[in-house]
Amino acid sequence: MARILVIEDEEKIARFIELELQHEGYETGKAHDGRTGLDMAESDGYDLVLLDIMLPQLNGLEVLRRLRKTSDVPVIMLTARDAVMDKVSGLDMGADDYVTKPFAIEELLARVRVTLRKRREKTPGDVHVLSAAGVVMNVSSHAVTCRGEEIALTNKEFSLLEMLLSNKNIVLSRDTLLARVWSYDYIGETNVVDVYVRYLRQKIDDRFGIKLIHTVRGVGYMIKDETQ
Ligand code: CA
Repeated sequence: MARILVIEDEEKIARFIELELQHEGYETGKAHDGRTGLDMAESDGYDLVLLDIMLPQLNGLEVLRRLRKTSDVPVIMLTARDAVMDKVSGLDMGADDYVTKPFAIEELLARVRVTLRKRREKTPGDVHVLSAAGVVMNVSSHAVTCRGEEIALTNKEFSLLEMLLSNKNIVLSRDTLLARVWSYDYIGETNVVDVYVRYLRQKIDDRFGIKLIHTVRGVGYMIKDETQ
């Protein structure tokens, strides 16, 4: 069963989350400050981290920034409602998802299940490769290259590119991409998709002088594969 680390300084909330996770059969660990949490996340082999933003010693965003230098363990941020900058920063820095406080425990558990399932689908076994326009994605090893050169992508950028490459020659609407890549409905936040498409274009189209992601005006985005 998956092991989940809860980094949360409010003892009552941390204990509550831990009990609910254990009730679902997960093994849990708990840290009450950012520094201890970072140490545990880096060294104790967790499958998922639930990370509060407002933490003593190191705040959650700083924990995430440091953790991503050494680990791609899935992270769900726990943010204050309306802390839009925290959400955007967290996703930019490689958080897999976030839940706003106060949250219903069922919502948190649903996000945990989705995040763990995505991770399992990515774990090695069969090598799964997607490609278009000279860009090659090895889904199993989470690596993307173009003309043999490695392209460093954040988790969200990778997931978005994977979704587009898995649906070549099909136009995906912003809402579809939001629902599938961000895993639940960000109603009215479709500009998140545009922002991430821009990041991908900077890292791939601009750098290699290719046209990978096409904008279909009024509809969404698509990767074309002329060879199909
Ligand atoms: Ca806190």
